[in-house]
Amino acid sequence: MKQILVASNNKGKIAEIKQILSGWQVFSLKDKGISVDVEETGTTFEENALIKAKAVYGITGMPCISDDSGLVVDALGGAPGVYSARYSGREHDDKANNALLLKNLSGVADRSAKFVSCVVFYDGKRTVVGRGEVKGRILPKEEGEGGFGYDPVFYCDELGKSFGLATAEEKNSVSHRSRALKDLVSKL
Ligand code: IMP
Repeated sequence: MKQILVASNNKGKIAEIKQILSGWQVFSLKDKGISVDVEETGTTFEENALIKAKAVYGITGMPCISDDSGLVVDALGGAPGVYSARYSGREHDDKANNALLLKNLSGVADRSAKFVSCVVFYDGKRTVVGRGEVKGRILPKEEGEGGFGYDPVFYCDELGKSFGLATAEEKNSVSHRSRALKDLVSKL
């Protein structure tokens, strides 16, 4: 079976990738005893995903998959975008990020937004890119406690509820990441 390394230690992401890449033996960085902290210096999701995949391939020589994702809000000119994890200035502080987002949208009528994901495969020769998105809008306040990141403030049009109120199965059935992965697999 072909082996692939996911340039992440996020358990949720790895489980989702394993489910979709059923013909591959999928490893996380932890499985391989690797610890890397790659600086995301790109200005697009694709650039950041490629930076990570190439860095991890450079260390391991194994075919790699890496993803970068974030929230894109129309009324904020596409922000937080590639800065989603550190929007409030505090990396991965979901509460602070959500609070700042709600503050910046207070009184704003157009609350349309989307989650975007870009997944990149790199094996030293071939670069393959998968893209996915899911549309919705930013709620006036948090709804539900499920998921992570901006899930409680994101109302998903297709599910008719916030990602914070959705089960993992419901979210995976429409998520930007699962769509990007499926797009990638169809091109591999
Ligand atoms: P990364 O792709 O793991 O670097 O994620 C970037 C940031 O985007 C996360 O820290 C979250 O703030 C946000 N994000 C990406 N995907 C999701 C999602 O499915 N739900 C909620 N927030 C997300």
